[in-house]
Amino acid sequence: MKSVYLNKGKDKAAWQLHPWIFSGAIKSLSDKIDDGEVVGVYNVEREFIAYGLFHNSSRVAIRLLEWNPQVVIDADWWRTRIRKAVGARQHLLTDGETNTVRLVFAEADFLPGLIVDKYADFISIQVHSVGVERVKEIIIAELNALLKPKGIYERSDLKSREHEGLPDTNGLLSGELPPEFVDVIENGIHYKVNIIDGQKSGFYCDQRENRLLAAQYAVGKRVLDCFCYSGGFTLNSLKAGASQVISVDSSALAIETLEKNVTENGFGAGRHEAILSDVNKQLRKFIDAGEKFDVIVLDPPKYAPSRSALERASRAYKDLNRRGLMLLQSGGLLATFSCSGAMDMDTFKQVLAWAALDAGKEIQFIRQFHQPEDHPVRASFPEGEYLKGLLVRVL
Ligand code: SAH
Repeated sequence: MKSVYLNKGKDKAAWQLHPWIFSGAIKSLSDKIDDGEVVGVYNVEREFIAYGLFHNSSRVAIRLLEWNPQVVIDADWWRTRIRKAVGARQHLLTDGETNTVRLVFAEADFLPGLIVDKYADFISIQVHSVGVERVKEIIIAELNALLKPKGIYERSDLKSREHEGLPDTNGLLSGELPPEFVDVIENGIHYKVNIIDGQKSGFYCDQRENRLLAAQYAVGKRVLDCFCYSGGFTLNSLKAGASQVISVDSSALAIETLEKNVTENGFGAGRHEAILSDVNKQLRKFIDAGEKFDVIVLDPPKYAPSRSALERASRAYKDLNRRGLMLLQSGGLLATFSCSGAMDMDTFKQVLAWAALDAGKEIQFIRQFHQPEDHPVRASFPEGEYLKGLLVRVL
């Protein structure tokens, strides 16, 4: 196996089980190495640190897989990792109320560059690296053996693939093509998921628990669900007994899917309205019209794609939340989220504090939201923590 030697002092994170080695940390290579090859990584004293997947031009030059020098990274290694990840989610799928979960969450499951989501009988996968691309057949065979899905579809149309020189890849990998809308169930609610054209890999299953938690506060209330996508918060609120839910999203496909979902579940009649609009524009309209809500959900897309974008993103989060707070009655609740990994919980609280000052409101933080257990955070990889939220009460 080929070897990579790290610069002096650049081996600390790797010893601490962090899975990324940046290109700047590399001192030398034993040979010419192909993209995606498994390599042994050594410090400047030539002590073995770990095995990883190498890439010549990616900023993350090595994605570490295994720190035990005795272990061989072969087909069986990949199969075992997949089995462990899938096995750890089985209990989420046993109550008949939920059949959509994330089965593999990349670095957090020691499978850097691989995401696998289950949507009822279909599987959607995303591959972010050449190294994983090379073992894709093994992964597909193992997923088929374990789960016997009707079909496995790849949705690797991602920015992160560019770094590895990989093209967008969208297509059927095995079995049948998913229908335009796959029926899934989450928290006992039915959703149509468009695996082929929907956002992300089709559904935001990372909000499963938070939808249920937020809905507890919606009973008998007037709810505004902003950035509603296919209606996760809307449907849980309607099911819990909200008196009215208004949902806003700027994607026509999202609104179309949401309306199908409301009808399909049969609990929206007369209580639901969907608005196709930019959220900030719609919030301004509501403010001008003197509208008030009891519960508002703000679940925007990622405003801060990197740490360097955080300051600008913080201003956008502040403006959005200020508008949300202005629309709440005294005693009203804001369930507000950030899926930007660069924004930690403390910064998010600070942003809310600024938003409240600007809105002229006193607020309390009464609950925190996190990503669910099928999106675990590995202690040695804190970057995997991205979704956070606050339940805020306006006094
Ligand atoms: N709350 C959703 C997930 C939200 S994902 C759920 O529970 O499933 C973010 C959503 O924001 C996407 O549906 C996207 O279409 C929408 N979006 C992005 N920018 C927007 C904007 N400026 N105004 C309205 N919606 C927007």
